[in-house]
Amino acid sequence: MNIEFFGKQGSGKGTQAEMLAEKYNYFYFEMGELLREIAKTDETVNRYVNEIGAFLPEEISVPIAIKYLEKKATKKDRIVFDGFPRSLKQLDMIDEWFDEEGIGAVFLIEISDHEALKRLAARRICKSCGEIYNLITNPPRNDRCKKCGGSLYQRKDDKPESIKKRLTWYQEISKPIIEEFEKRGVLIRVDGERSIDEIHNDIVKKLEALEK
Ligand SMILES: [Zn+2]
Repeated sequence: MNIEFFGKQGSGKGTQAEMLAEKYNYFYFEMGELLREIAKTDETVNRYVNEIGAFLPEEISVPIAIKYLEKKATKKDRIVFDGFPRSLKQLDMIDEWFDEEGIGAVFLIEISDHEALKRLAARRICKSCGEIYNLITNPPRNDRCKKCGGSLYQRKDDKPESIKKRLTWYQEISKPIIEEFEKRGVLIRVDGERSIDEIHNDIVKKLEALEK
């Protein structure tokens, strides 16, 4: 069964997706990472990812994802998707690629906007090595990078006004696909305002209950 993790920025869905993939030896797939890699050699993708900063059209992004999965994922039914597909159109295209079994479980990691704002505003990045810190959950040492001692900065994107805009946008674009997952009976809501381990254990329990 394929599994997807969904949730707003700051929900910790990526962390949970990776933990689950590792536990069950599933193939972990994250679209953003793949696109950043491809942008290095593909002019069109590069323009979207690095210049326009926009959502790559489905007609471009989904075939890239499928081509990559065909090559890398050895089993078509053991993939953990991190935040992808995130629109109905992407979902349709991915459904077509699957033979029989599509995405059988979607874990929606829920946190309030207030919590997301708090977490994202606490994010700091090392100027020298790019390591990401969080003043609350993963603090640096003496305002310096623990790995290389570099100084830290806050991305412009992580200022409150930008975060609020992104949260509103998330709400709008994800509503239809969440409703679709709900209709299919595959949506599982998870309280994301707990410790990483607590959430992970909860997800494992819910998944095992599903497979019985
Ligand atoms: Zn550093």
